Amino acid sequence: MKTVADYNFQNQRAIVRVDFNVPLNANFEITDDSRMKAALPTINKILNDGGSVVLMSHLGRPKDGPTDKYSLHHLVNHLSKLLNREVKFVNDSVGDEVKNVAKNLKSGEVLLLENLRFHKAEEKGDDVFASQLASLADVYVNDAFGTAHRAHASTTIIANHFSTEKKMFGFLMAAEVANARKVMNNPTKPFTAIIGGAKVSDKILIIEKLLNTVDTLIIGGGMTYTFLKAQGFSIGKSLCEEDKIDTAKQLISMAKSKNVDLLLPMDSVVADKFAADATTQIVSNENIPNDWMGLDIGPKTIEIFATKIKQSKTILWNGPMGVFEMPAFENGTKKTAEAIADATKNGAFSLIGGGDSAAAIHQFNMASQVSYVSTGGGALLEFFEGKVLPGVAAIEG
Ligand code: AMP
Repeated sequence: MKTVADYNFQNQRAIVRVDFNVPLNANFEITDDSRMKAALPTINKILNDGGSVVLMSHLGRPKDGPTDKYSLHHLVNHLSKLLNREVKFVNDSVGDEVKNVAKNLKSGEVLLLENLRFHKAEEKGDDVFASQLASLADVYVNDAFGTAHRAHASTTIIANHFSTEKKMFGFLMAAEVANARKVMNNPTKPFTAIIGGAKVSDKILIIEKLLNTVDTLIIGGGMTYTFLKAQGFSIGKSLCEEDKIDTAKQLISMAKSKNVDLLLPMDSVVADKFAADATTQIVSNENIPNDWMGLDIGPKTIEIFATKIKQSKTILWNGPMGVFEMPAFENGTKKTAEAIADATKNGAFSLIGGGDSAAAIHQFNMASQVSYVSTGGGALLEFFEGKVLPGVAAIEG
């Protein structure tokens, strides 16, 4: 894998695709700068070598061209503090002014381009737009794993305009790809995947694929209840995708035929409404009341899941076990995180990501107790679905 570690950037201008799609509050203050911090090692490596950097990113989903709400100028001051140097900014990502400023960058200088998605050409993967971006630099670096599953101009098409020696991964992207591959291609056994989240429909492909490699598949979260209904339980008002009941049945029999130990919840925390102050009770699968809904896994389930997790040597966790955003329903997700942390302490490799489980692990301040928390949502999910990520293929060829 060619990365920035293998290249000397002295007197070279690098254009770096970063993922600065950070959350901003109503006053345009950054409420979580972890995506910016994640790109710093790559940027600093280039600058310390004596190179200069042109940074490009998207922010939000602008529909109709330039909109102040989505302007990257909101990030300039903070980025400048993080890099401990001035950050130049231009009001566009292509055009004469941009070209001029980029051309005159001196060693150690940083230029941030305006939101790429102000041009429709970005998401269309337009080659002319990609070539205009490419013309701004000598070297192309992709450090935006979060958009690696998109064949956009800045994530994929631009790479066609650089020779093999002049395109490479940044540190973040390289770590993401290496960790995902380790779990996908070379898992130390026993390998347990924990799949949760709201909907079965979002997770069918990843479950099908994982059934070929895992020893144990744990299912939790809202998708539990479609599986329970498929097994004949009445699930009250719990989340259910009626049109996925047959799929759930197929996945259950697929697991059996592949000798995968499929663990479904046996009890739930049910609530009389979807609210933080709901009345709750713990019931087994046979006793879910008609007007109630399952919003977290129950204590017996937690015990069984945790035991299995602690026996594992490779763990992939995608999707929370309950509505962890509300304290009343966070316990299953928290205890799952704790079991993963225990397993990790005992030598397991644990990869968290591809959905809200990454947000949960940060909420519980436990990110340092697992092996790797991915920054990729859709990208990590698609990777484990077995899809080729265009942003990765564009560099590796
Ligand atoms: P995902 O993006 O697929 O990881 O789904 C995450 C969402 O699933 C979170 O917002 C959770 O609140 C939600 N979720 C988890 N368990 C349940 C449940 N039992 N009922 C409804 N929503 C749930």
